[in-house]
Amino acid sequence: MAGFKNAYLLRVYEEVCERNRGEKEFLQAVLEVLESLEPAVERNPAFEAEGIVERLVEPERFIQFRIPWVDDAGQVRVNRGYRVQYNSALGPYKGGIRFHPSVSPSVIKFLGFEQTFKNSLTGLPMGGGKGGADFDPKGKSDREVMRFCQSLMTELQRHIGDWVDVPAGDIGVGAREIGYMYGQYKRIQNNTTGVFTGKALTTGGSIGRTQATGFGLLYFVAEMLKCLKGQVLDGKVVVVSGSGNVSIHAIQKAQEFGAKVVAASDSGGYVYDPQGIDLALLRQIKEVERARISEYAARRPGATYTTGSTGIWTIPCDVALPCATQNELDGKAAQALVDHGVIAVAEGANMPTTPEGVSIFVNNGVLFAPGKAANAGGVAVSGLEMTQNSMRLQWTFEEVDAKLKEIMIGIFQNAHRTAKEHGAEGNLVMGANIAGFLKVAESMRWQGV
Ligand code: NDP
Repeated sequence: MAGFKNAYLLRVYEEVCERNRGEKEFLQAVLEVLESLEPAVERNPAFEAEGIVERLVEPERFIQFRIPWVDDAGQVRVNRGYRVQYNSALGPYKGGIRFHPSVSPSVIKFLGFEQTFKNSLTGLPMGGGKGGADFDPKGKSDREVMRFCQSLMTELQRHIGDWVDVPAGDIGVGAREIGYMYGQYKRIQNNTTGVFTGKALTTGGSIGRTQATGFGLLYFVAEMLKCLKGQVLDGKVVVVSGSGNVSIHAIQKAQEFGAKVVAASDSGGYVYDPQGIDLALLRQIKEVERARISEYAARRPGATYTTGSTGIWTIPCDVALPCATQNELDGKAAQALVDHGVIAVAEGANMPTTPEGVSIFVNNGVLFAPGKAANAGGVAVSGLEMTQNSMRLQWTFEEVDAKLKEIMIGIFQNAHRTAKEHGAEGNLVMGANIAGFLKVAESMRWQGV
């Protein structure tokens, strides 16, 4: 049970548990944030007087819908779709769409809740939202994916809009899926406003959006290492989990900084490559062939493959970057990383570290960057995509990348400064949560109940 000292936060947390029984991921995310907010709430009684925290934990709107589609064999299939429009205090709802069999109301609500704080940290005018479906794109043909995306959008289109709610990609949703969803939106609405981000470069997409989360993660890590340890990434040994969009671009930028990335994974297992990951080969296997990561070890001399993805954290490294999925790095894995001398851990994925894992890092003096700060680069460039769409312009890679870097450094500095101001110097979990919260809370107060 939660160890709250503040009676208001304890009451709100108990109400959330009562109202959202069994929603494990959502309750985990709420607890992690509320525990961090104690110093801010103690300082400002207006938050309780105006019911800010109880309003913040409750989504403004939660939409669930049926997605019927026809597979290649002519069989009718039915999936379940969701969109949570969590908080619009700062701007239109903004957050990705996830396709994965594990998608549930709890997962969508946890992601939407986290997104609200993350978007606030970017400094851009975006509220928090998230969506998804319990659809598994693995093993489906392009045509099946297209029919599924069209059916999903036939319903979702009535709930979104460029000043209302702007989705993007997430796990299982990349350029292909966004294209099919955007195409269906346009057909039904007869409207080409940039209602999606992560669009193709030919159709209003932003240069640099694909790379943004992974690159942004490394900009954050570089700043954190420099400011808190006086160190650089050059020469560091890095382990990255996953091999999807975030992981691949994290590996690319880590290598550009001079680090040696020795491992990557997918949901089946992980590869260890002591010479350093051959990124071109990894991309060929994961992005072009959409094959399993075991193929990497089969084709790369000296690399090994191990079944099961959690063992990746037993590989000694200086920097660990969990970039796959929620709760992939537990207490045991965190302890193994600490025992092997890890200096810094930064979350490319959303909530990849369990609460026990986070405590182990924090208590052992490991620099720990929470996802809502460290992986905000993706949504930051999505925000820049919306800006470019409004201006009917397309910026160059250099312009976007420079802005991304500035935003990531700003997020680190804001989280670091806020932690210090609240008596928790070096605790970026607390700093990011409080900094993200304060902006949303002030905006909610200003707008009235
Ligand atoms: P992708 O679908 O591109 O990649 C996900 C990767 O994680 C795949 O390699 C997948 O393997 C692997 N994976 C899934 N489950 C596990 C597991 N249990 N153990 C090990 N590996 C696993 O998704 P993204 O890269 O876009 O997203 C990754 C994470 O980053 C998510 O938490 C997402 O919410 C977060 N994020 C993404 C952003 C973006 O811009 N894309 C922005 C901010 C956060 P397999 O192919 O076998 O399923």
